[in-house]
Amino acid sequence: MNSVPFAIPDLAGREQQLLLETLASGWITQGPRVLEFEAAVARAVDASHAVAVSSCTAALHLALLAAGVKEGDEVILPTHTFIATANAVVHAGASPVFADIDPATLNLDPAAAEAAITPRTSAILCVHQIGHPAELDDLQLICSKHGLLLIEDAACAIGSRYRDSKIGSNSHSPLVAFSFHPRKVLTTGDGGIITTNDPAIDRRLRLLRQHGMSVNDLARHKSGRFVPEAYLEVGYNYRMTDLQACLGVAQAERLDEIVAARRAAAALYDQALAAVPGVTTFIEPAHHFWNRQTYFVRVHGFPSGPDTRDALIDSLLKHGISTRRGITSIHREPAYSGHPLPHPLRQSESASDECIALPLFPRITSDQIAYVVEKLCLELAQIDHRRIECE
Ligand SMILES: *Cc1c(COP(=O)(O)O)cnc(C)c1O
Repeated sequence: MNSVPFAIPDLAGREQQLLLETLASGWITQGPRVLEFEAAVARAVDASHAVAVSSCTAALHLALLAAGVKEGDEVILPTHTFIATANAVVHAGASPVFADIDPATLNLDPAAAEAAITPRTSAILCVHQIGHPAELDDLQLICSKHGLLLIEDAACAIGSRYRDSKIGSNSHSPLVAFSFHPRKVLTTGDGGIITTNDPAIDRRLRLLRQHGMSVNDLARHKSGRFVPEAYLEVGYNYRMTDLQACLGVAQAERLDEIVAARRAAAALYDQALAAVPGVTTFIEPAHHFWNRQTYFVRVHGFPSGPDTRDALIDSLLKHGISTRRGITSIHREPAYSGHPLPHPLRQSESASDECIALPLFPRITSDQIAYVVEKLCLELAQIDHRRIECE
């Protein structure tokens, strides 16, 4: 039987070599490799500063704190996102306010976000879902009109562009957070980074990620003199290690290549699925550039969305094909039960019910893609034989 995994990170560059060098050096916690990785990411996304941390969740938490979000504030975000987006708001002491998405892009609907503004709102936290750029112009306009800060959850979006601006270049927001979990486009095992164009924010983020400490270990080590440290505020241990940063440096060197391979695979899916009725694919928005972090299809018109979806995932697994449910709607998770929901979230709920992520990774072959499409079509025909015919 053929088997198609859902995702495999591509670690075929200098990852092993750099790791061995760093192990031999004896410096394995946040140090020279983290600095090198920060510079590489800043260069890759046209940012002036990049601060590496232990995860994107940590990156979002620090971004919210650096933005001045505090207890009692409200932060508007989509419900249709990974749960960490909302958790970071709660970690910062603020209250998440869920707004609906635009079904065409699966990103925050700017009109819905504006309708959710109250006197307590301090920020809008938008998400570039599955790497697809959010409507940054509209969101920025709304934020400046209402005196709010825009923060970008770009966990999935390294390598994507909004018009001529790279995501992470701080073209629309002083705080952009990326993830390097293996499901994302570049990986460090676990890891995150915040890009900013504000040197004061950069300094604050560096302080917060390392216990609020006035000098970091590397600076003390290099100084050759005794440098006493002070703890200037209550910080966190959100450091990335140099071991993780080794992977990051090697991965960042191949960003363009990895994104090109993903886009080529996505184009093959687009072509093959165009003829399959009952399946909608997502289109690259005009003027933007999409890194294709996840390949989503939407299966509609069938009875009872989530049941059809789960049956489809299960039957594809019997063919050796590993797929995933779409993105959760956070307000339906037990962790947020009882959370106030003043705004309609219908588009989010039906996208959660009807989307399936297909296997996509840089080294997926055209045969594997053809096999996935063939079995998807076959299984859809089983569900609704009146409408679907497979060749
Ligand atoms: C993956 C993801 C996160 C969390 O990233 P971690 O690095 O695992 O903390 C946050 N937001 C979105 C949209 C994600 O997809």
